[in-house]
Amino acid sequence: MRIDILTVLPELLESPLSHSIVKRAKEKKLVEINIINLRDFTTDKYKSVDDYAFGGGAGMVMMIEPVYKAIEKLKSERDYDEIIYTSPDGENLNQKIANQLSLRNNIIILAGHYKGVDQRIRDNLITREISIGDYVLSGGELPAAIITDAIVRLIPGAISDEQSALSDSFQDDLLAPPVFTRPAIFKGWKVPDILLSGNTGEIEKWRHEQSLERTRLLRPDLNNEE
Ligand code: SAM
Repeated sequence: MRIDILTVLPELLESPLSHSIVKRAKEKKLVEINIINLRDFTTDKYKSVDDYAFGGGAGMVMMIEPVYKAIEKLKSERDYDEIIYTSPDGENLNQKIANQLSLRNNIIILAGHYKGVDQRIRDNLITREISIGDYVLSGGELPAAIITDAIVRLIPGAISDEQSALSDSFQDDLLAPPVFTRPAIFKGWKVPDILLSGNTGEIEKWRHEQSLERTRLLRPDLNNEE
């Protein structure tokens, strides 16, 4: 899989995509992630990527040309399954969307900045718009990193025990059961006896019941009826 992220602030994306599961997935060549600086697609000496909004008003707008050139260059090199724009008014990111995207081969993610990108890019080049929640951030770099992380950890082989991604919250519309590690007793706080029993079948049953109970209590809106 290949993910190309277009941004005016590449520095913001470097660290989030250089550690842990994403780093290992890159090392194992399961995913190639390219962070592309939109300033490399400008023609003026100031490398401008923003301009005043037509009609006036506060805030700058991401210019159409550098974004268009960057996307067209990538598209001339390979086919893309999705060209995503990060936007507070997009569809809310959830596990189903992450699952779908993890099955794609090539994705572009355009991280917005300023007041956002010129609408004509959204109308003509973008295939999907994704929000990471109902709040406004300064730029789309962190959303792009979050979307990438959510996708990459689902690629088979990215996590050593593949089951571990599949048993995370929201797969099957269930929240994950509680987890414990050593010591078995800390300050009198005990790990549930069942987890120390060694009875795998009973442990799985207990975990499933815990998942159902947590979901019922914390997220009754999830459809987890069996
Ligand atoms: N004027 C825009 C609005 O009101 O919808 C917000 C612009 S915001 C300051 C700059 C950029 O950050 C956006 O264009 C978008 O790419 C990104 N962004 C901000 N919040 C986001 C969110 N919740 N989800 C995804 N992207 C977001």
